[in-house]
Amino acid sequence: MTIAGGRATSIPLMGRDEEPTIFELSAPGRSAARFRDQDLPEWSAHELVPADLVSEPLHLSEASERDVVGHFTRLSHRQYSVDLGAYPLGSCTMKYNPKLCDDVASLPGLANVHPAAPAHLTQGWLELLVGLGDALCEVTGMKAITLQPPAGAAGELTGLLLMRAWHEAQGRQRTKVIIPDSAHGTNPASVTLGGYDTVTVPSDERGLVDLEALKAVLDEDVAGIMLTNPNTLGLFEEEIVEIAAAVHEVGGLLYYDGANLNAILGVTRPGDMGFDIVHMNLHKTFAVPHGGGGPGAGPVAVSERLAAYLPGPVPVRTGDGTYAWSTPERSIGRVHGWHGNTLALARAWSYILLNGGDGLRRVAEGAVLNANWVREQLRGHYDIPFDRPNMHECVVSARNLKKAHGVKALDVAKRLLEEGFHSPTVYFPLIVEEALMIEPTETESPQTVAALVEALIRIAEGASEADREAPRTTPVRRVDEARAARQLIPTFDARP
Ligand SMILES: *Cc1c(COP(=O)(O)O)cnc(C)c1O
Repeated sequence: MTIAGGRATSIPLMGRDEEPTIFELSAPGRSAARFRDQDLPEWSAHELVPADLVSEPLHLSEASERDVVGHFTRLSHRQYSVDLGAYPLGSCTMKYNPKLCDDVASLPGLANVHPAAPAHLTQGWLELLVGLGDALCEVTGMKAITLQPPAGAAGELTGLLLMRAWHEAQGRQRTKVIIPDSAHGTNPASVTLGGYDTVTVPSDERGLVDLEALKAVLDEDVAGIMLTNPNTLGLFEEEIVEIAAAVHEVGGLLYYDGANLNAILGVTRPGDMGFDIVHMNLHKTFAVPHGGGGPGAGPVAVSERLAAYLPGPVPVRTGDGTYAWSTPERSIGRVHGWHGNTLALARAWSYILLNGGDGLRRVAEGAVLNANWVREQLRGHYDIPFDRPNMHECVVSARNLKKAHGVKALDVAKRLLEEGFHSPTVYFPLIVEEALMIEPTETESPQTVAALVEALIRIAEGASEADREAPRTTPVRRVDEARAARQLIPTFDARP
């Protein structure tokens, strides 16, 4: 990093010690200055050294503002986004994000603060972070929280490192983490990154964790279990209290994958179900644009006994009513630079205030109502593998269309693009053949959800071999997705 004609080297320190990041600033002809990340470095333009200034004009390619605006406006019209219409991508929760939350995150008092600014100059930011942390602990039924992890998967790894630290503090070496066969792909990946072996338990004919199969794999090597509840079939694990008791019985911990908290907000809480560690995706549940819309946030909340291990520093309210940074006693160390994606945190906090407690409950009620309505409407047109009331999403199967017309879930997804909607998630969860995982979300109107359902029914009724050519009306036709990922060739297309 270059600052004012000089150089700055940062030495981020990971680990348990309390040492803050050290910055070293140096400029030609000046002695180096060292800063701790709590101090606000002071430098000004007069430190610029003339010899370092560029004297020749730079030969950068140029485009007029008119052409640039035209280019990006044309591209934006070819794009499909949450601001344009329904985006029923199950598990990913692509709901509409209120513009007010963007406005809050753009306030200069929040957006222009340097992350190295000391606590006494950033009391407002700290108050916001403490307030957000308290609210998230309340909705999850947990006691303490870290706001550092920048995504759901980062939260999962943080949770597993907490699990490991806790077991080690009890003098135990445990090797296995259990996950159900319906789990999100990040779960087994995080288990591996966390240094554990994955043990998979099957789902039963109801689409829920098979309790007997779970009990059969529980032993003293089990560090814990990772569950999503409702699971990725959109179904609520009815035996969660028994599952929690069985896992705790062998000394294991329960990890809640709370990526899709919009299913239960204000209705039930992971803490009340018996979970010890919860990550949540603020970018799915609490109105933070994601998936190309910006960075996310995956805070991790824990029960009392795990609080001392959280990544630090955490924002705290001190005895005299002011705010400060504090590193928990047995902290596993930092999991992210600075304080996480703070502007995503500001969006989430404004969304919580905007809705209030009752409003958050209505979020869950709307999400569940819309998803159940979709499943009921699709009955008879698509197969419904686990035909029971679902939560925020429903999983149907194109197995019937494949058998009758050779039309697969992928073809249905591509046909839906022609109908003016984004596709649902396909081929996930893995245990459902030709899966279409539909999450209408709570932000779509009854008219929009009805139009989505009508389009899906039209596709099923008109299914034919020709669907393999879909989409025929989009700017880009069907691509070879595997090859596109392996041989990415970005190009600039200025055609009007
Ligand atoms: C999205 C999701 C994740 C991963 O979250 P990222 O922010 O994409 O890393 C994990 N579990 C479930 C159930 C999810 O839906």
